[in-house]
Formats: sequence, structure tokens, C-alpha cells
Amino acid sequence: MPSVGPPQRPSLFVGGTWTSGSGGAVDVHNPFDGSVVATIDQAGPDDVIRAVAAARTAFDTGPWPTTPVAERAALLRRVAELLVRDKEEIARVETLDTGKTLKESRIDVDDVTAVFRYYADLADKEAGRIVDVGLAHVVSRVVPVPVGVCALITPWNYPLLQLSWKVAPCLAAGNTCVIKPSEVTPLTSIMLVHLLEEAGVPEGVVNLVLGDGPTVGAPLTEHDDVDMVSFTGGLATGQAIIRASATTVKRVAVELGGKNPNVVFADTPLDLAADWAITAAFLHSGQVCSAGARLIVEDALHDELVAEIARRAERIRLGNGLDPASECGPLVSAAQLAKIEDYVASALAEGARLVCGGRRPDDPALKDGFFYRPTVFADVTRDMRVVREETFGPILTVERFTTEDEAIALANDTHYGLAGAVWTADQARAHRVASALRHGTVWINDYHPYVPGAEWGGMGRSGNGRELGPTGLAEYQEHKHVWHNTAPEPAGWFEG
Ligand code: NAD
Repeated sequence: MPSVGPPQRPSLFVGGTWTSGSGGAVDVHNPFDGSVVATIDQAGPDDVIRAVAAARTAFDTGPWPTTPVAERAALLRRVAELLVRDKEEIARVETLDTGKTLKESRIDVDDVTAVFRYYADLADKEAGRIVDVGLAHVVSRVVPVPVGVCALITPWNYPLLQLSWKVAPCLAAGNTCVIKPSEVTPLTSIMLVHLLEEAGVPEGVVNLVLGDGPTVGAPLTEHDDVDMVSFTGGLATGQAIIRASATTVKRVAVELGGKNPNVVFADTPLDLAADWAITAAFLHSGQVCSAGARLIVEDALHDELVAEIARRAERIRLGNGLDPASECGPLVSAAQLAKIEDYVASALAEGARLVCGGRRPDDPALKDGFFYRPTVFADVTRDMRVVREETFGPILTVERFTTEDEAIALANDTHYGLAGAVWTADQARAHRVASALRHGTVWINDYHPYVPGAEWGGMGRSGNGRELGPTGLAEYQEHKHVWHNTAPEPAGWFEG
């Protein structure tokens, strides 16, 4: 049945049944005006135990891990069809939950659909391989097998998209899972689980628990029966998850934050550079892991570009994500707004020059939402907090360089390494700089695009895993070697 409206209670999904949790119920609020969008159940520790047990049983007793790959792929394709059917409603709920514009939510649902299709196609082609060991009586096969029970833990900024990057390859590979979306924006994850159920996912293969990190996320990462944790979120949480997983030696894939350089050489047309600088930095109010938050500009273009960016940033229309006239929605929460105000205060205290923004909007129509004006700081230095740390909001800092080497050194001067871009008309220089950047994704004369077939992930403290592409499937597989001696003879090692 097509989805109509935000999800209703009961909202946990355990062992093939929708159930309420022992953690009570909470309201989910619209960051635009604080209104209640939905009321949902919260899991308690006992629900986490039940969900893991259901996933364990479904993995150990099957049939999902041994279901022919073509059937698993067919289920993913059915989910893609249901996403197409429900696109408008899912996009609307994503906007109500996150505050992002409806235009962006619709793109997210299209991207999620493409991810399900991509992994359906890729799974179909999974073949393993034969290793020729040079012995006629031996067959040596390497076969991909599922890892087991996977905990999929996701952040609030791209709730549905981030979940799809995990759940589609996880299921394609034959695993079972327990999904734990962000407590801040859980609604479209609940909707996706409804679609997985409708598409016919067997009982216990997909389970959903809702709640915060300490109550629901942490027990998943410590549980003996969880074989893998795939996590997307902040650096500190990722570090805690790696530590928590050590006792049981789980496979851990973490996708963390970024402090992403956007390098602009002076031969880039001013209009193009300014347009893309604000798109890189202020899309979804900068709440994007790959946001181009550090603009690094060649001297000759610096002053003109800063002025043009300020002019454009001042004109960005903030508003209700459901209103087609809005170009940017609010920040997701009061906590996120407070964090941004703190970063602005610290930048000013450390001597950065405020070029524009630096305040909440005056428009009374926005007073109930968590809005903050797009903010640009120039004359920043590398040691400032606002330059070193991920602010995850609408703050752009601008640094300048003289030589190509200097540009590269600045761009790589971060503990993170998620994404970055270089803008220049000189194609040889573009490739030199792109090769030198220690970041998981590098765009040349572009910013933000990604495709399901190309790997996404970070270097350094931006993470240790890869999502999307063939590697995004391999994350959820063990590669098992089967050695078959068809004519065994005594070893003759010991005399007996
Ligand atoms: P967060 O780390 O606060 O929370 C992420 C998830 O982890 C939530 O579901 C949360 O409940 C859960 N969690 C919290 N503590 C936990 C614990 N101890 N054990 C297990 N789970 C726990 O991150 P956030 O604020 O939701 O998201 C923002 C961050 O996500 C930013 O740093 C952003 O860069 C990053 N991000 C990265 C990517 C990427 O592809 N690398 C994509 C999107 C977002």
C-alpha cells in the first residue's frame, strides 16, 4: 500500500513484526517551526537484544544468506519500484524531518532508488573466482559469503540516503541487519523498512530499533552476536565505536566527518567560481559531510571572489523546505544552531574577518526555526578552530595561496580526508593537484556529484571504509577460500 503521511506507531520492526519499544514514545519535530511531525516508539536495551536475536536466527537458520543471488537482487529491484511509487510522500516527510528543501529530498529519493538498482545489478554478477594452483586434482575457489549480522548506524543529515548505501549492499550480500537511524531524523528510515517488508524481505532479515546513541547504538556495537558495524556519523562517535567493537573483534566500517578544501586557481571565471563556492559550502545549510567549507583561493582572484561570494550569500533565500521559493532550510536542531553560534564566536575571538552572515536571520517568519545566515570568514589562519574542525553548518572560511605547492599543502593540512575540489582551466595542473590531494573523492571543475558505481569514503580521520561501488558490496562480504583435493593421498609428514 502506498505510504501516506509520516509513519505511525508502532515503529520498531523486530523479527518481522511492528512493535512498540520499552523506551516509551517521543515526538519528532519539524526544524522549520517546531511543530510535531510524528510520534514514534523508542527502543530500550531489551528491544536491542530482541532485534539482534532475530537477526542472528535469520542469519543462522536462513534462508536469506543462501537464497540465490538473483532472488536477493529481485527483492532490491522491487524496493526500487516501491521507492518510485512513493517518491513524493517520502520526499515530503524527509523535508519535514530534516528541514532540507523538497527539491533536495526528491533528488535524495532518486539517488536511493538508483543505489538499490545498482546493487541489484552488481549482486547478480557476483561470481567468486577460481585460482589455478597448477595441480590437476585440486580445485581452489574463492567465494564471497556474507559477514553475518550487521548493525547499520546512520546520521541525521542524509537519513534515507545514508541508510540506502548500507542496507542495499548488506542485503545483496546475504546478511541480516539491525538498523539504528539517527534519533534526530528517523522517519524516512521507518518508511524504508515498511517498503522492504512490502517487497517481501523474510522475517528477521531486517530489524529496526529507534533511540539515541548511548541507549540503542552502543549496545549494538558491544553485542557478541553482531558481526559487523557499519557506521556513518561524527569522528568522536566513530572512535567510540571502534573501541567498543574491539572486544568482540567485529568488522567495523566507519564513514566520518570532513573538512573539505575547495581550491580555486585564478584562471577560473569569477561567476563560475563564486556560484560553485556557495553551492559547495551552503547546500543543505552546510550540513553535508563533503561540504566545501574551506575555500582556498589564488591571490589574484581572492579579493574579487570573496566580494562576489558575499554578495551571493547575502541573497540566499532561507525558508520552509516545502516552499519552492526557499533555497535553504533551517539547521536540523537547536543543538546544531548552538554549535554554529559557538564556532562563529570562536572565529571572531581568534581574529577572523567576518565578511557576511554571522547571525540568525531577522525575518519574523523564520523565528521559530533553527535558521542561521550563510556566513563567510576571510583572513583566517590554519590554527583557528573554525578552519581545523568540522562545523557542519553554513560557515565558509577563505584562505589564500600564491603557488601550486602552497595550495596543495593547505588542502592536505587536515586530519580529515573525505573530499575536495580543484578549479582551473589548466588541465595538466588540474590533474597534478587532484593526484596530490589526500582525499577520498576529488572533483575537478565541479563539486558534490557522486554516482552509485564509484566508491565513496575517507582517508585519514574521515573513515576506514568505502561505500558505493564494488568495494561497497565487498564491505559486507567475507572472501572464503575453498580448497578441494579431488584425489587425496596420505600426507606422509609423520611416520605414523
Ligand atoms: P553522530 O556521530 O552524533 O551520530 C550518528 C549516529 O550514531 C546516530 O544514529 C547516533 O544515535 C549514533 N550514536 C551516537 N553515539 C553512539 C555510540 N556511542 N554508539 C553507537 N552509536 C552511537 O553524528 P550525526 O551528528 O548524526 O551526523 C553528523 C556527522 O556525520 C558529521 O560529522 C558528518 O560529517 C558525518 N557524515 C559523514 C558522511 C560520510 O559519508 N563520511 C555522511 C554523512 C554524515
